[in-house]
Amino acid sequence: MKRHFWVTVSRSALYTAAATALVSCANMPQESADAALQRANTAMGGAALKSISFAGSGTGATFGQAYQPGQAWPKITYSSFSRVADYENAAFREDAARSRAEPSGGGAVPLLGTGEQRTSGFMRGSAAWNMVALAPVAAPVAYDMRVHDLWTTPHGVIKAAMANNPSSTTRMVDGKAITAVSFTVPGRYRATAFINAAGMVEQIDSVQPHPVMGDTLSTIVFSDYKDTGGVKFPARIQQSMGGYPVLDLMVNDVKPNAPAGIEVPALVTAFVERPVASKVAEGVWFLAGGSHNSVVIEMKDHIMLIESPLYDGRAVPTLQEAKKLAGNKPISFVVNSHHHFDHAGGLRSAASDGATLVTSELARGYFETTLANPNSIKPDALQTSGKKAVVSGVNGKRSFTDGERVVEVYYIEGSVHAEGFMMVYLPKEKILIEADAFTPAAPNTPAPAVPNALTLNLVQNIDRLKLDVAQILPLHGRVVPVSELYTAVGKKM
Ligand SMILES: [Zn+2]
Repeated sequence: MKRHFWVTVSRSALYTAAATALVSCANMPQESADAALQRANTAMGGAALKSISFAGSGTGATFGQAYQPGQAWPKITYSSFSRVADYENAAFREDAARSRAEPSGGGAVPLLGTGEQRTSGFMRGSAAWNMVALAPVAAPVAYDMRVHDLWTTPHGVIKAAMANNPSSTTRMVDGKAITAVSFTVPGRYRATAFINAAGMVEQIDSVQPHPVMGDTLSTIVFSDYKDTGGVKFPARIQQSMGGYPVLDLMVNDVKPNAPAGIEVPALVTAFVERPVASKVAEGVWFLAGGSHNSVVIEMKDHIMLIESPLYDGRAVPTLQEAKKLAGNKPISFVVNSHHHFDHAGGLRSAASDGATLVTSELARGYFETTLANPNSIKPDALQTSGKKAVVSGVNGKRSFTDGERVVEVYYIEGSVHAEGFMMVYLPKEKILIEADAFTPAAPNTPAPAVPNALTLNLVQNIDRLKLDVAQILPLHGRVVPVSELYTAVGKKM
């Protein structure tokens, strides 16, 4: 069992907090931050280290993709996991082969027992991107986390602390002196590195910005340091984030100063968040042009926006475009399909714009608490506005009308994807809006041999509610006639 030192981490479940009797002595000799960092740099072989790559296997989690709001992140298995930290160029790369270790919860990981998925994520300069089927795809929402992950490696944190005006405290823990070195990188993260008597970084407590959680705490524990050509690196890395475990990695390969070769692709440099609108019915627009879509519905004296995903960078132009399309009326309601962070990352922006957030009753309390967290490291629209998010719940079904148009919100019941999973139905227009239950394949793709369980569940819910659907506006992918949904589950209409 690993201990926490003296920073109280109330939301962490990975290690027991305050398990250690702290001996706080006023006359304890204090080590300066500079001295502690120099000592660690020498002991860990960091001075000549320009980059490092490390690989292993273990378990992880899909952060932000809990089945129920507030539950632990769904567990995944890494058959392989590697990172490249290029300190000289402030560049980072992570490759993994992952599969689900439990049946429920979100994340773009194949359902339990249906296979393994490879992922590749990168960061350099001001850009973050993923490789998807050998093509680079900008992933700006991943940027802050990758910056954090680069500089919270064992050697990275020493280099970052040295460059950012650190302070320190030395205390006795279990009869051994530990020096805690703290620093802040404005707009990025803050961290405390715990350096032991042998000069090893044993633990990092950090805070990074997040579009849903605001200031988000991580605890990273490094243990079982081994030597590779004079460079010390832990054989085990355990991390919790936002209160729950996200990584338990057994490292079996370390390469100091391996060439990193991480260059920003031109396609990524040129990327700008731009919602692309298409009209699907009178007063109804589909906003595409990114990984996540939104739908604008014009009511008599206001706008309803279905989904404000990702982060401020997507949400702000989405809110602007919605107003432009619908006569500059106020956006009174923003419906959130479910609590997964990729679908909820623009709710803070929407709240700052004055919208009431409509979510499932199961997620209402969670959002009220979570959206009230400060996002102080990188102040976002909500933080800057000083407003408090107003969250309104849906319990199974809720109807909205302006006297003419009707917008119905329903639970998608019995899905393994999320509890409080919701879809939106426009009865007059026969439009169904849904996220994650059905993402249309490329046109003319033959139906899969085994239908996707989430898609089958969606069809069951449409049948249960006897909804008359003509068109589906999915929050990932393209607008399709309902026949494509039935084809995907091998059903004739
Ligand atoms: Zn989801």
